[in-house]
Amino acid sequence: MAGSLFVVATPIGNLEDVTFRAVRVLHEVDLIASEDTRHTKILLDRYQIGTPLTAYHKFNIRAKTRQLVNELLAGKMIALVSDAGTPGISDPGYELIRAAVEQGIRVEVIPGPSALVTALVASGLPTDRFVFEGFLPKKPGKKRKALAALKDEGRTIIIYESPFRLLKTLAEIEAVFGERQIAVCRELTKRFEEIIRGGAGEVGAKLKDQRVRGEIVLVISGQDAQRERS
Ligand code: SAM
Repeated sequence: MAGSLFVVATPIGNLEDVTFRAVRVLHEVDLIASEDTRHTKILLDRYQIGTPLTAYHKFNIRAKTRQLVNELLAGKMIALVSDAGTPGISDPGYELIRAAVEQGIRVEVIPGPSALVTALVASGLPTDRFVFEGFLPKKPGKKRKALAALKDEGRTIIIYESPFRLLKTLAEIEAVFGERQIAVCRELTKRFEEIIRGGAGEVGAKLKDQRVRGEIVLVISGQDAQRERS
């Protein structure tokens, strides 16, 4: 009989943000496929989990997906974890989940943290309807085009961004959207958590002389809420 793939959400910073079920499943499976084994080891050590780990990341994704699917078909119970948060959301998890589904392997999701939901709720912007854009294209032309396509979006917009590109992206947002309300959500659940809310230009000016570090989610007001403000 085939085994099961357990898609396990792990903390996005604070190691206490893990469910009882996640800890039990990570204890019980035969193998944990992890995007970053060194990072996952910190979580496993904290909860005294001795389950073997194997690397599953974008550089070995094709061969490793095949290998893991074969092990699942042979009856192994395998957990998939990403670097942080919910596997499958802007990380390599999707490929393995899709391959398992295609092979008729049982997939169970153990829900938990995700940076996108945490940021959306913390932003103070409308949560009833939203779109998640993942990472924007890196090339300036493509990025501008992607932002322009979102200009008339009525729903709240969520974007993952690197600290190195943040200031440029804020300037682009101001150029494309005007003084739209945004929230820069930095280092969520961690020691230096910070949420900076305001107009895109205003937030950009606040951050201009700082060396922005850490992990960032950008939340942008949709046009509907922006119109209601003015
Ligand atoms: N699967 C993950 C999830 O469920 O959130 C996301 C993986 S994606 C490769 C990593 C990106 O998520 C980071 O570049 C950042 O934009 C965002 N992120 C992850 N942890 C975060 C945190 N603690 N604070 C702010 N953003 C975070």
